[in-house]
Amino acid sequence: MFDRDDLSSVDFGTMSDEGLIEALRAAHGRAAVAQAAEVFAVRELYRRHRAESAEPGPDGVRAGEFAASEAAVALQIDEGTAGALIDIGLALEDSLPRTRAAFAAGRIDLAKVRVIVDNTRAVAREVLDVLEPRLLEAAGRNNAVRLRQAARRWAARLDPGGVQRRRELRQDERDVRLRAVQDSMAVFDGLLPAPGAQTVAMRLREMSMQVCASDPRSMPQRRADALVALADGSGRLRCHCERGERCPKFGVPIARPRRPLIQIGIPADTLLGIQDAPAFLAGYGPIDAALARLLAEHARFQVIPEDSAAEDEPAAAEEEAAQWRPPPRLAREVRAVDGMCRFPGCVMPAAESELDHNRPFDQQRPDRGGRTIRTDLAVLCSRHHRLKTLADDESLPWRTWRADLDRLQWTAPTGDIHTTVREGARYLFPRTDTDAPVAPYTGQHRAEPTDAPTAEFPITDRRIAADIAYPLDGYIVVHGQLRRIRPEDEIPDDEPRATQTPGR
Ligand SMILES: [Zn+2]
Ligand SMILES: [Zn+2]
Repeated sequence: MFDRDDLSSVDFGTMSDEGLIEALRAAHGRAAVAQAAEVFAVRELYRRHRAESAEPGPDGVRAGEFAASEAAVALQIDEGTAGALIDIGLALEDSLPRTRAAFAAGRIDLAKVRVIVDNTRAVAREVLDVLEPRLLEAAGRNNAVRLRQAARRWAARLDPGGVQRRRELRQDERDVRLRAVQDSMAVFDGLLPAPGAQTVAMRLREMSMQVCASDPRSMPQRRADALVALADGSGRLRCHCERGERCPKFGVPIARPRRPLIQIGIPADTLLGIQDAPAFLAGYGPIDAALARLLAEHARFQVIPEDSAAEDEPAAAEEEAAQWRPPPRLAREVRAVDGMCRFPGCVMPAAESELDHNRPFDQQRPDRGGRTIRTDLAVLCSRHHRLKTLADDESLPWRTWRADLDRLQWTAPTGDIHTTVREGARYLFPRTDTDAPVAPYTGQHRAEPTDAPTAEFPITDRRIAADIAYPLDGYIVVHGQLRRIRPEDEIPDDEPRATQTPGR
């Protein structure tokens, strides 16, 4: 019999095939036990946060809302994943005791637990008592995909009256999201009520026919371009047949696309083609230099000098402290060099975020008398600006301080320290990307960094990161109070506290 407890010192090379299969089963079971422990631990952390939320309400800590932040930072996973783990923990505890026990014992893994949670959420208690044991039994014989099919079929049979209830529940889960993948591509997907989805599909099909038959694009390519044309305001596809007046679609008026709704940071020498450093597409990450130059053809530019921190621009002194805002040029520069939210692990684009005035740092410099420089400010998304504001008011046990020009340090409630750096600057000024590995044999001359332009626009997409360690991509939380955990799902206040007053 294979020793389940000692997999680390096993010499797989000496094993029989049967032994290897046995080892695989044992290892998978132990991974499931570990997954269950993660779920139970983060769920308990959430329970404690909820119990401690002293001042719930719009200006206080919403009950338990930052438990996911703390877990996400500790594990270096995204908050949506941490929130989904909490949600699964709650569902197991509330209504799925048998599944909880099987998971704890490693008899089923997280992927199958997710299927069971997904398919039992709107099921009546009496039905669940019949359905849950059958699902667990099926989980032992099927992979997660087959288990999902069986679960749907049985839920529909056992609870036909629940069809409408489930449909209504599913409609609440409608969402459109974007996920960065390799090679400057992203997956755009969503969950829509069928009539709405069909409306989008038929419109894309109609637009795909707006070009002549000689247009070289395939139908899938046309549909993809049509979706972008819907968003950029041009509203229709321009024919690519290049036949000029001989094209039957020649002369059909097309509205000018709106200025791109995207923001790209690109070093000046790369823009000019002297270097090929990666550029930064806000909300996505690195894109290659050639693509960045292509996008830049229609861009509006802002020049971000590498180090203007020394050239401080005083905040308008006549402004009341309560209405204090950084000068626009300073605000643009901070957004460009920070690139994205400065909370550990958060990837919300700077243009979608707020500027936080770094109070602790300001207090170390009482001599400056109300003037604000670049390093007093940091980009934070709405969710993490809430976290920091609450922490500054000592309503939350997080602490932040500015370690130097570049580094912002976060002390988690447990005392763990996490550091974030100015990601945007890594792209704009490649010389500052000192963590990047150096290519072994290029004698390539690196041009001195010069003023780096960025194109600036708001980005309004929603993005989730797929975490391959957790089979939770697209998981939709059951518990309403967990729905705002992803930074991109935070609804900004109508009157955001965009900046704190310096020295408040
Ligand atoms: Zn044509
Ligand atoms: Zn954030």
